Amino acid sequence: MGKADRESQTCPYVARCGACHIGEKSYEEELAEKKAQVVTHIGKYCGKINDVAGMYYPYHYRNKVHAVFGRIKDEVVAGTYEEGTHTIIPVSDCLIEDAQASAIIRTVTELIQSFKLWVYNEDTGRGLMRHILVRKGASTKQIMVVLVTASPEFPHKNNFVAELRRAHPEITTIVQNINDRQTTMVLGEREKILFGQGYIEDVLMGLRFRISPSSFYQVNSAQTQVLYKRAIQAAGLTGKERVIDAYCGIGTIGMCMSAKAAHVTGIELNAQAVKDAKANAKRNHINNIHFIAADATEYMTRMSQNGERADVIVMDPPRSGSTEAFVKAAASLKPSRIVYVSCNPETLGRDLAWFGREGYRAQEAFPVDMFGFTEHVEVILSMKYCGKEKN
Ligand code: SAH
Repeated sequence: MGKADRESQTCPYVARCGACHIGEKSYEEELAEKKAQVVTHIGKYCGKINDVAGMYYPYHYRNKVHAVFGRIKDEVVAGTYEEGTHTIIPVSDCLIEDAQASAIIRTVTELIQSFKLWVYNEDTGRGLMRHILVRKGASTKQIMVVLVTASPEFPHKNNFVAELRRAHPEITTIVQNINDRQTTMVLGEREKILFGQGYIEDVLMGLRFRISPSSFYQVNSAQTQVLYKRAIQAAGLTGKERVIDAYCGIGTIGMCMSAKAAHVTGIELNAQAVKDAKANAKRNHINNIHFIAADATEYMTRMSQNGERADVIVMDPPRSGSTEAFVKAAASLKPSRIVYVSCNPETLGRDLAWFGREGYRAQEAFPVDMFGFTEHVEVILSMKYCGKEKN
């Protein structure tokens, strides 16, 4: 796709939505700015920072689409909150989100209107329909729709589901999630499967993964393969290593590495994700991996107290990054290499300073663009143990 094609894409919501800044600059300029951002935050800890690996087609890449329901006069709308407010900006055709997901959200909005369901009001805490989450397996094309409601009662539920499936036979599962708390969290803890298996599957790097509603799964499938290939390379595995996959989600990175490792331990806090991870290992006949539902710091500390060691630690924390306690716990297992997958260069920089004190030095960083037209950038790098005395 030429530069002109990229620049011809415009979005009517860009001024108010705030989720991305499409149309403001060319994709090439954006990638250059993202590299500069990475250099600013980690330049002093990492000698070599590569150019950002950009997307082949930077549109409609999001395989997970979320919208909040609201009402403007008599009309039910779905969209996003204007930054810092409870005002809903209706978004019906987003350029970075999966187009099929957008179409499903439009249908659900119409169905809420025609079934006369009550839309939830953030300010009063009253009403039923709160959010919708659509997830699609980029490779399998399986689609999950999660309808988040404020209470378990869902009037006309069966007819609603039947209408939705009639309009979108491509949907493979529909889940009702109940979130009765006044919170900014989208999902609550209770779930009812309204149709299908309650999860979708996707194929990544030749392995099949099941993904439940609350489990983390990278939103940009094409770029995830670029990222994971780099992670596998950065781990430098020979087949003999004991690997820890910390913050492992549904086990994707650890499973992709398992063929080149002696053993992998995945550690993850979210119990639903760990359930997925265990099912995924079984499904792919991987026997040298096991998963622990625990806080990564606590579990690694216990391992170290029991005299256990690791050769390679892979870590992929949320945007808030890791903690000093995690860094100390990781170092206490004496790995020769640590692979850090980060979605926030700022917290990565902070964490690299802590790793430096433990004797770990970053070698080479590979930024990957997973989130085109937003300010976010992913970075992967590997650290080697160089000895504390060189501090
Ligand atoms: N590596 C996975 C998931 C990365 S997202 C992938 O590539 O898909 C980060 C994950 O860290 C989330 O699944 C989150 O639930 C988990 N997490 C957050 N805090 C944690 C902690 N203290 N200990 C273990 N896991 C944690």
